[in-house]
Amino acid sequence: MTLGTPHGFSDPHADRLATGAGHLDGLSPATVAVAAGRPERRQGAPVNPPVVLSSTYVSAGTPAPGELLYARADTETWQPFEEALSALEGAALPALVYGSGMAAVAAALSLVPPGGRLVVPRHAYQITLGLAADLAARGLLGVEHVDIADTDAVVRAVRGDGASGTPAAMLWVESPTNPMLEVADLPALAAAARGSGALVVVDNTFATPLVQQPLRSGAHVVLHSVTKYLAGHSDVVLGALATDDDALRARLASYRTLHGAIAGPWEVWLALRGLRTLALRVERSQATAAELAARLAAHPAVAEVRHPSLPSDPGHERAARLLQGYGSILGVRPHGGPEVADAVVDAVRLWVPATSLGGVESSLERRRRFATESATVPEDLLRLSVGIEDVEDLWADLSAALDAALRVVDRR
Ligand SMILES: *Cc1c(COP(=O)(O)O)cnc(C)c1O
Repeated sequence: MTLGTPHGFSDPHADRLATGAGHLDGLSPATVAVAAGRPERRQGAPVNPPVVLSSTYVSAGTPAPGELLYARADTETWQPFEEALSALEGAALPALVYGSGMAAVAAALSLVPPGGRLVVPRHAYQITLGLAADLAARGLLGVEHVDIADTDAVVRAVRGDGASGTPAAMLWVESPTNPMLEVADLPALAAAARGSGALVVVDNTFATPLVQQPLRSGAHVVLHSVTKYLAGHSDVVLGALATDDDALRARLASYRTLHGAIAGPWEVWLALRGLRTLALRVERSQATAAELAARLAAHPAVAEVRHPSLPSDPGHERAARLLQGYGSILGVRPHGGPEVADAVVDAVRLWVPATSLGGVESSLERRRRFATESATVPEDLLRLSVGIEDVEDLWADLSAALDAALRVVDRR
């Protein structure tokens, strides 16, 4: 027996490519995160999609279009997550989940034709820049680094007004950037890139779809390290892409199958469970991040704070105009240099010293401890990922660690 579908919900798996996530139109993102990707409503049906552990499917004769055949190509455990992410990003087609954010990055970069030019932010996820450099070293593409906040410079690089002379094949955008939190004028960049025939890929990991929906600003493809905010609990490594373009989606899906860049069913199920609370987590951690940014800016041990919520931040005006929030990553430079930054990391008790971000737990690290981090990132920059703990507990721990660091500086 089929119950009524009060919100117009239909079987999310029926005719997926044709319908996309249209049945969720008009609902707010906080609602979509909870409501999307549910099994069909009927008496006795589970509220959550099941985890299906099967590498292959019963199949004889010529397979029908969309028929499940083999779990490297598609499985029903991916589909609810893919539908939910697509609805959150406002994509017309289901998203594609990958075995990691980097598998999604590799798939997206595979859209650059051999010998094509790729324009990337000078400050971006390190391993993305590493993969681009590796492809360039093998002669597969050309790479040009830009300050993504400098719209004129990015547009010149995309059009090929510089030394190379040829228009770029792809513009890669992160905004806010990792770890400098520069904010791009995405609508302007996407319009210019489309005008000169470049594909626009936006890594939306830092912003989340609650803060920025790049496809609505002209991007062709949006990327997530699902590992971070979407899954949100630092317990899975997973990636995803979404697009409105049938041909691009077919190529990205084919890349996943040909390269075996696939996600495990448990991980995708955990990511969907994490996604249910995305709005609560993002609201809480953003509010706490803005409060901590203001307090840090007034702390005597702090030389500089980066967070787009601060009116003094170079990205503030643009973020206020283009984003639906300021995110929950902070950049902090203590007085006294990298040794003092390391002392802060050693002194915290509640904040977790760790790489990665976007989990319920607050964490921090000095980025230049990695030899691969860009040389233009200050040696003393701490990147803080603000979680959902109580703001006063976080502040007590952090300010005590900064006070201890201040004493280190004073002793010199
Ligand atoms: C972590 C991260 C990635 C890579 O994702 P993995 O899931 O770790 O492979 C890509 N982009 C950004 C902005 C990230 O923070």
